[in-house]
Amino acid sequence: MSYDLLFEPVKIGPVTAPNRFYAVPHSTGHGHLAPQGSRALREMKAAGGWGSVCTSITEISETSDLAGHQVERIWGDVYLGAHLKQVEAIKKHGALAGIELGHAGMRSRNFISGVPVIGPSNLPIIRPEMPLQARAMDKADIWQFRQDHRRAAQAAKEAGYDIIYVYAAHDISIFTNFLTLRTNHRTDEYGGSLENRARLLREVLEDTLEIANGECAVALRFSVHETNAITPIKYDAEGRDIVEMLGHLPDLWDVNISGWSSDSNTSRFSEEGHQLPFTDFVKSVTNKPVVGVGRYTSPDKMVSLIKSGKLDLIGAARPSIADPYLPNKIKAGQVEDIRECIGCNVCVSCDAYGVEVRCTQNPTMSEEWRRGWHPENVPAAKSAQNILIVGGGPAGLECAWTLARAGHQVTLAEAENEFGGRALKESGLVGLSAWRRVRDYRIYQLQQRDNVTLYPANKLSAEDIKEFEADQVIIATGASWRNDGVGSMNFAPLPWLSEVNIITPDDVMSESKSVTGKVVVYDDEHNYIGSVMAEELRKQGHSVTLVTPHREVAAWTDYTLEIGKILNRLATLEIPVHTDYQLLDGNDTQLRFEYLRPAGENRMLDCDTLVFVGARLPKDELYLELQKSMPAESLHLVGDALVPGIIQAAVFSGHKTARSILAQVNGETEFFRLDRPDAGP
Ligand code: ADP
Ligand code: SF4
Repeated sequence: MSYDLLFEPVKIGPVTAPNRFYAVPHSTGHGHLAPQGSRALREMKAAGGWGSVCTSITEISETSDLAGHQVERIWGDVYLGAHLKQVEAIKKHGALAGIELGHAGMRSRNFISGVPVIGPSNLPIIRPEMPLQARAMDKADIWQFRQDHRRAAQAAKEAGYDIIYVYAAHDISIFTNFLTLRTNHRTDEYGGSLENRARLLREVLEDTLEIANGECAVALRFSVHETNAITPIKYDAEGRDIVEMLGHLPDLWDVNISGWSSDSNTSRFSEEGHQLPFTDFVKSVTNKPVVGVGRYTSPDKMVSLIKSGKLDLIGAARPSIADPYLPNKIKAGQVEDIRECIGCNVCVSCDAYGVEVRCTQNPTMSEEWRRGWHPENVPAAKSAQNILIVGGGPAGLECAWTLARAGHQVTLAEAENEFGGRALKESGLVGLSAWRRVRDYRIYQLQQRDNVTLYPANKLSAEDIKEFEADQVIIATGASWRNDGVGSMNFAPLPWLSEVNIITPDDVMSESKSVTGKVVVYDDEHNYIGSVMAEELRKQGHSVTLVTPHREVAAWTDYTLEIGKILNRLATLEIPVHTDYQLLDGNDTQLRFEYLRPAGENRMLDCDTLVFVGARLPKDELYLELQKSMPAESLHLVGDALVPGIIQAAVFSGHKTARSILAQVNGETEFFRLDRPDAGP
């Protein structure tokens, strides 16, 4: 298939995007506090061929203070310098620079500014866990808000942005607060009818167009469909009405669905292009260009979207994080080289923590400036070494691929018949098939090189490794799930567990032990695996109960925006769930738990097979044995064998160790720069 269509320019009002690849606004965790990192990250996308590159939500004033989430700011002149430099960095590569001006309305917290949160009505803010209320905006507040937005738009124009956004998406927008009856209880001309509820949005769009004055484009980001609201805006009702009402105003429609967990849905719960059934009407309602997202990584799919008239521009946040060079690879006909997003939302979790974004597939994400890492280029080794890597999971594969690119002679040995380690094994579980991409991308790259030798089905001993006489040895042998009761909420082994039929996720994945009778999955890890185990065994026809000592099921998945979907899935599959249950003791047929609220009460559950999801132990025996005879500078431990963690951490560890070896061989010093805010223009 020809992909020329994707490289056609697209007119967006007074400006022209050089191609159809559009890096939509997304937070990076760098925000206004780490502008060097932010700038370098976005510049990388522009260098990689994204024809339009946008900022994160950029707070327009102190009344929209998202304290704790590191987003960008344009509260006043002090922030202008950072924007000027960012625009320059993006435009240097021929891309358009876009800025998402935003006011978070009832999602603001204003912890830093201390001023009242504002919204259409006197209601609690949209963060039920916080005892804060929003103040109903009076006419003076509305006037002030419009002035703030105008001032921010003027500043954005002065900074040189080509596209200025009005942000009315998700429920993190004051416009959404006004649009929906759920939060707009007003009786004046800004409440009641849809026309009234859309008044503020219309006014601000008109204000922004006036300031743009045909010199830069104005985009509207709008969620045409809400999946999680009580009185939702629906794509076939008010969502459509709003597009019809305002269709002619913005120069670009950037459309998606809301809330964020639906927009940034994970691969476990959605397919590529999952938003399209809700957004594809927009092109038929407006003659302005339309951009939409959907975790698109397949160029064939992208072409079909354009040809079928569903979108004009291919929007991407996560695919542009996983592969900032995706457009250039398509242009060069190197489609197999695309590092496809796996839809795991580790990147999203960073926003919740308020830290710089990390990516499972792209270990260089956020390291462009502070460590000087490039996603595609690795410095050439001044002298090629003979390097042996033991273990072909995510860490070993990434380490091998990075060292091979530098020109080293790399040998990768894997005990199993197939490379991929836990990424491959987990990809066989229900909902996790995309995890395979971690392996597929890297193994394909390694197979293309003549300085790489791959040995599957080769379990190496310490003697084998020594006999190999490599210049450097990297141990990437992974970790195994514990079966002794140790987990995140219990650090003491439970000896009685040897008396019960206990299995671990390793056993389930390898199908090495039989699962019989009533199954209890006990999750003391609190990430995705516990619920996936329950779902997988239920799918296989077992009677399954999910139990956790935590007060929430799969607590960490709140950060990946999956927790609600997991609860729904468990309910749909009729899997009973018990929280606050701490494992005490048991026998062949029953387990006894201490119920933690109130503490002290005991509860029994029938159990013939206990699936214990707890902590993991590093498989570092080989490393410890080799340490006795090998010099420290030639022996390295990476990934889960160094410290068990999520797949992203293993990939990062493999990459970082490879970079350290390169620096060592080339006699260079590694650096880690500390970012700080720019001090004004
Ligand atoms: P990580 O996430 O750190 O990459 P994994 O558990 O995914 O860890 O992968 C580790 C890989 O190492 C597994 O595929 C395992 O089969 C392999 N492995 C473990 N011990 C040896 C060994 N002695 N020789 C070769 N491969 C090994
Ligand atoms: Fe995709 Fe996961 Fe990377 Fe986010 S962290 S861009 S979801 S691979």
